[in-house]
Amino acid sequence: MLKHCRKCGGLFSSSDPHLCPLCLEEAQHTVKQYLEVHRGANVLSLVRDTGLSLAVVNRILANGSIYAMPKQGPSHKD
Ligand SMILES: [Zn+2]
Repeated sequence: MLKHCRKCGGLFSSSDPHLCPLCLEEAQHTVKQYLEVHRGANVLSLVRDTGLSLAVVNRILANGSIYAMPKQGPSHKD
């Protein structure tokens, strides 16, 4: 089923919440950077400060790699 991305408006087909894969990746980067600066920040302040939706933040955190990510870890997977 096709959805409109909330951020860029592009159409995409996926089970991801509200964001196309590109914007989701960008959001993931935003969350990662935020957590590097604000270690131990809770989800609500993350949502408030990044402007991302709770569903998106939860989805990113549920991927699991964010908190465990070493600072010098690989930044690109492609
Ligand atoms: Zn998008």
